[in-house]
Amino acid sequence: MKTEIIHRETGRLLDSCPDLTVHLNFSIDGLGHTHDKVRGVPGNFRKTIASMALVKKNYGSNPKLLINVATVVTPDGYKEAFNLGVYLLKKELIATQFFEVVRGDLRDPATKTLTREQIQSLRSKVYPLVEEQANRLFRDFKGAKKAMAKTFFMGFVRFVNNIQDANYFAPTHWGMSCTAGKTTIVVDHNGAFRSCEVRPAIGKLQDYDFNMKRALYSKAMKAEIQEIGGGGKANCWCTHGCWIMSSVKFNPRAILFRIPWSHYRAKADRIPGFTLPEIHVEAIENYESIPVTT
Ligand code: SF4
Repeated sequence: MKTEIIHRETGRLLDSCPDLTVHLNFSIDGLGHTHDKVRGVPGNFRKTIASMALVKKNYGSNPKLLINVATVVTPDGYKEAFNLGVYLLKKELIATQFFEVVRGDLRDPATKTLTREQIQSLRSKVYPLVEEQANRLFRDFKGAKKAMAKTFFMGFVRFVNNIQDANYFAPTHWGMSCTAGKTTIVVDHNGAFRSCEVRPAIGKLQDYDFNMKRALYSKAMKAEIQEIGGGGKANCWCTHGCWIMSSVKFNPRAILFRIPWSHYRAKADRIPGFTLPEIHVEAIENYESIPVTT
């Protein structure tokens, strides 16, 4: 999508729906040429950063807007993932960054060849960046409130990552029901809708007068929810962070116990007094003048 359209539509949404919290999520899978290669679009890294910077400049002070990045970690981007996180934080472009493992049917199976050990090692390496995000998100909080907010945020990220990593190679029960179709709906470019990105389309929004509520509560969606059976019946457990996150909200055990426990178990990955290392921001941004190496 073009920078001007992202900028214009973000402004329109914030203006016309002032009570809505808008999460503007950009996909960046590596630095410079690596991202362009993974996405198959030359110059895409530069354009994405430009879009983020423009939105941040004009709407960054609006507390209802959160600019986030989702990074799908592939063998190409693996070694750069940490520096990408550092770069985004140094530029103050993001509220959060999620590192996602590859999911779904792949055109190129080579994108899913990271080992379990490599993924675990990356999780450890970027955990200080997650703490830095928490420090910034809750910079105005004090004392126990700040400690609790940080514990929940960091534990939440690690909890979601643990479920994703367990599902990287094969469906593995999340330890809670998936609420796809009950709390979430996916609408495709042509109006087809589905309970999640992985499940098949079950209807067309056109047949419901483009009324999302009617589609969400339709017979077709009720049948789909039955078929999924909270994930257990379809055994379709996946790595999709958005659905894991929206399902957590309806599971008190996860909120009260599993998330704080995840944070506690990740304590070895925290680095007291961590500060962002120096990186060559200019070289990262001028990457198009550097020849592509294969
Ligand atoms: S577990 Fe994954 S694939 Fe199955 S319904 Fe939930 S989000 Fe979709």
